[in-house]
Amino acid sequence: MSNTQTIEEGTEAKKIPELEHRNFRNDEFWQKIPGWSTVTRDEFNDHKWQVKNSVQKIKQVQKILGPLCTPELLSDLEAGQKITPMNIRITPYMFALIDWTNPWDDPLRKQFLPLGSQFLPDHAYYEADSLGEDTDSPVPMLTHRYPDKVLFLPTTICPVYCSYCTRSRIIGGSTETVDKSTYGANQKKWDDAFEYLLRNPLIEDVVISGGDSYMLTPKQLKYIGESLLKIPHIRRIRYATKGIAIFPQKILTDDDWVNALRDVHEFGRRYGKQVVVHTHFSSPQEITKASQQAMDRLFSLGILVRNQAVLQSGVNNSVDTMVKLTRQLGFINVQPYYVYMHDMVPGCEHFRTTLAEGIELEKAVRGTTAGFNTPTFVCDLPGGGGKRHVASYEYYDKENGISVWRAPYVKPGELFTYFDPIHKLSKEAQKRWADKATVEAMVKEAKSKVE
Ligand SMILES: *Cc1c(COP(=O)(O)O)cnc(C)c1O
Ligand code: SF4
Repeated sequence: MSNTQTIEEGTEAKKIPELEHRNFRNDEFWQKIPGWSTVTRDEFNDHKWQVKNSVQKIKQVQKILGPLCTPELLSDLEAGQKITPMNIRITPYMFALIDWTNPWDDPLRKQFLPLGSQFLPDHAYYEADSLGEDTDSPVPMLTHRYPDKVLFLPTTICPVYCSYCTRSRIIGGSTETVDKSTYGANQKKWDDAFEYLLRNPLIEDVVISGGDSYMLTPKQLKYIGESLLKIPHIRRIRYATKGIAIFPQKILTDDDWVNALRDVHEFGRRYGKQVVVHTHFSSPQEITKASQQAMDRLFSLGILVRNQAVLQSGVNNSVDTMVKLTRQLGFINVQPYYVYMHDMVPGCEHFRTTLAEGIELEKAVRGTTAGFNTPTFVCDLPGGGGKRHVASYEYYDKENGISVWRAPYVKPGELFTYFDPIHKLSKEAQKRWADKATVEAMVKEAKSKVE
């Protein structure tokens, strides 16, 4: 059903390195997984099959992989579960796209199935609610930080659980390391949030996140969308979901859900209001023919999709990967919007990159394709300063990995700090970070350069 059959596709593209981003794998890749060797294309593309066969336990990993799961891998996966703040949930689609002949280095395995051996000690300035979302929350499920836009979190469940989740404090149920107060769909609480929005005429823009909008039933999706669009001053809503990236089969075969999204979108258009989707592709390895077909369907309905990626070591922090991701997303009509510096939340030190890496990647990507398809690299400031362009720091001590920022509109007069991961600093700097008094002096010194 792909509408974008171009002559450059397939064999033509394979011969020309510059056109490699137009190649989309369309083989029965899941049949390489021993447990799914006889699963047909129709079964695999059925959204119900995907949900039913989602992997949620290490035991299941072992069973499905059979001999591909070596004892060494198994014990490392088990060790990972003792550290990670997130439970396991991974769709068969993502699971099967992992290169199980080399799981250690695989960018998808890293995101969903953490290994004990890969974790690093948390940074001294880590916080479970690093962005201060709970502090800036006037009513449950709502963060109101910027004057005209809010973040609405109607659910805490997702179709996959990412080991680096910025909301690991509330998403995905309690684990061995974190006790969570998760919540499911709760219309009464949603109505309280809508009531708040109704009383605040400055708000024009609502991000519906979570958790993941994919987990809302068609009825809930419609209820939330239409309730928001009926508020006179709300002009724009966005459904945030990692779904299109990690589970495109739902767009292809869950007609009720897609129709609900279509209806809200049309409802918005009748009122002259925007309804868009924000998704989260992290690496080109996640993009297949199914992604393209899912996007074709949404595009034909006139629904705009943007992408927000997180910059992660060993997943997408090379120029080649970031350029390919950017161009490939543009090609399937997903508009790259943001690439975030990794938030400073627990269990993520191994994923983080330095600010300098973010700035270098931004330079490398800009110019490779249309400006409107070029992501803005941002740092969402710890402590609630909001998102800032990576190169807009006030001061950056690269040696000690300390950057100092201002957020003049969001929090006038305040200074914010972001820190590079310790293991990427020089040996001398790492020694300084091991001493609390030295650390405090370094941070004070960096701030004094700005004040
Ligand atoms: C990211 C975010 C938004 C949306 O910001 P944009 O820059 O418009 O994408 C809104 N509210 C909060 C609290 C956020 O973190
Ligand atoms: S899909 Fe988003 S909210 Fe859910 S676990 Fe992943 S990063 Fe967190």
